[in-house]
Amino acid sequence: MTDLEQRYEKLIERIKSYLPNAGTDRIRAAFDVARAAHEGQKRRDGSPYVTHPLAVAEIIADMELDTESVIAALLHDCIEDTELNYEKIRSLFGTEVADIVEGVSKLTRMPYTSKEEEQIENLRKMFLAMGKDIRVILIKIADRLHNMRTIEYQKPDKQREKALETMEVYAPLAHRLGMQKIKWELEDLSLKYLDPVGYQEIMDELERRRPERVEFLNHIKDRMAERLKQAGINAEVAGRVKHLYSIYRKMYTQHKDISEVYDLYAMRVIVETVADCYNVLGFIHDLYRPIPGRFKDYISTPKPNMYQSLHTTVIGREGIPLEVQIRTHDMHHTAEYGIAAHWKYKSGVSGKDNLDEKLAWVRQLLENQQDVDGEEFIRSLKTDMFGDAVYVFTPKGDVVSLPAGSTPIDFAYSIHSAVGNRMIGAKVNGRIVQLDYQLKSGEIVEVLTQKNAHGPSRDWIKIAKTSGARNKIKQWFKKECREENIARGRSELDREFKRLGIELSAADLEEAFKTVCKRLSFKAPDEMLASLGYGGIKINRVVNRIRDELLRGKLRGHEQIIEKLKAAPKQKTSDSGVIVPGVDNCLVKFARCCTPIPGDAIIGFITRGYGVSVHRMDCKNVTNAMENSDDLSRWIRVIWADDVQDRFQTSLQISAKDRMNLLMDIATILSGLKIPVHQMDARALGDGYAVINMVMDVNGTEQLEQVISKLRGVSGTIDIKRSSG
Ligand code: MN
Repeated sequence: MTDLEQRYEKLIERIKSYLPNAGTDRIRAAFDVARAAHEGQKRRDGSPYVTHPLAVAEIIADMELDTESVIAALLHDCIEDTELNYEKIRSLFGTEVADIVEGVSKLTRMPYTSKEEEQIENLRKMFLAMGKDIRVILIKIADRLHNMRTIEYQKPDKQREKALETMEVYAPLAHRLGMQKIKWELEDLSLKYLDPVGYQEIMDELERRRPERVEFLNHIKDRMAERLKQAGINAEVAGRVKHLYSIYRKMYTQHKDISEVYDLYAMRVIVETVADCYNVLGFIHDLYRPIPGRFKDYISTPKPNMYQSLHTTVIGREGIPLEVQIRTHDMHHTAEYGIAAHWKYKSGVSGKDNLDEKLAWVRQLLENQQDVDGEEFIRSLKTDMFGDAVYVFTPKGDVVSLPAGSTPIDFAYSIHSAVGNRMIGAKVNGRIVQLDYQLKSGEIVEVLTQKNAHGPSRDWIKIAKTSGARNKIKQWFKKECREENIARGRSELDREFKRLGIELSAADLEEAFKTVCKRLSFKAPDEMLASLGYGGIKINRVVNRIRDELLRGKLRGHEQIIEKLKAAPKQKTSDSGVIVPGVDNCLVKFARCCTPIPGDAIIGFITRGYGVSVHRMDCKNVTNAMENSDDLSRWIRVIWADDVQDRFQTSLQISAKDRMNLLMDIATILSGLKIPVHQMDARALGDGYAVINMVMDVNGTEQLEQVISKLRGVSGTIDIKRSSG
């Protein structure tokens, strides 16, 4: 038997151990299909590629997932890397498997980026995938775990990139899904490539202390086991050193040497019943002195990721602190495999309903995200999902779990929106606290309400830590104060326009609103203003859209708006003759394509490094940019200063019948008008006509009009026009 066959047989054995009715024929078929599809492909270490999907399937079997998951794990790279496609997989293994494989492929295609905005989009996709079928994420995590285990064969830059992504995305995800074992391994593997020196230091130190540690842990383990045996409790006792990254993080955040890290060691006691857990706790506190305030009961109050255990820290031999975790076998399985532990098909019974409940937070998160922007999304991810929790009590003794940093406002809204909306204050452990007080585990929180309280304050949106509370507050403002919101939104917009130097009448604004509303998916302008008012949408988004719309509007013949822009009052002085509202002493240059002069409707373009380039509104380059570019944000409004006396260079093109003295007649007119001419040339077109191009100085459109009308009087002139790009 080949190595590969042996590994395959072991995989099947493992699956049968928890799933006696596993569809082994289908798993075999998937293995054969994967092997054939990846034929000839090699891993970086030189082994056949199929060893990778096989290893991923092994991890999936360790999670004790169903047959479909194992099959999908074996095929997970087929769509991405081989000739197989969705249809083919569907015809061979059914829709369920094909959907999972497709889901995994989509996540694989997702590029990692350190740009926050793209990261948010990626996370959004991940959570959407998770909401559809959690197995997609579980396979993706298994895939990443195996890739990290074998990353030593990758190039250094690839190693760092993958390690960073693993640390920022996959380890927190594994944590949130309660997969502690995988989370630890991912963190340790990532650390090795992110800080090789720090990693090695801890490794060396742990290795150096190995003998004393083994002795220390064995001694305690024996003593505990002995005592529990006497008490007739069937228990597994094991000692371990905490995982490397948790030691690293403690050293780093507490600026400590490894010898000063508080709890390096941990003992784990696994028993059969919940009652045994509490009994064991008693015996251990009897054997060793507990450190006050370090006892945590995650059995009666599970962590949001389903973790259950009793934690206590005791003083071991020689005064060395030691954390003891006590739990049942079931709790232990959940602690190691988290959500995966709840995805089980045992004797045909689906655990799916239960799982749906456990995944409620995924759905809730997605629901909460419907009308928030990216910034808000990442903020709630960081707190609601990846953050640690605090556990506080209601006056009746019910436990409420909230993200760390939560305030009485979060507490109140987590009970019910009505409680939050009527809140006038809060007490913690019987004492009145400020509403921005940060709750700590174990505190008793009482919300003081009043029936006719006039509702939440707008500041609360900033104070609240959870997206749930923020959304409920916004919801209140949305419902309760529509008129007020509209007025507030409008005045906020006015203020912003004033700041940016955009001056428009209400009528013109309404015109722009109509289109902008649609783009931002509001039904009517009032809805948009109301949303602005209660903080549902950020002012920048609206203003940017409106500005873009004003620019685009020109093309659709919104002449009134353009007229307004043209007639904007001049207020300030400027060396260049042009003011860029909001920017003092901005470097300004006039575009050569359209040579704007005072009186022209103008617009600015923020160049890279050369200040603002001023164009005429009707310049062809402006028109093209408006039509073709999605990014209109570099176009800004500019206005003529009112002290313009300077001369501005511009150009004219005259078409005329070619004749003797044509140029001289033109020159005579210009000199009569005292117009400085920089350049004048005539080009004969050959059929008795000529084109004359000239560059001259004028002080504005009025003077230019005068020039043009005089030139029209020159015998033979057919047409006179300004160049416009
Ligand atoms: Mn893979």
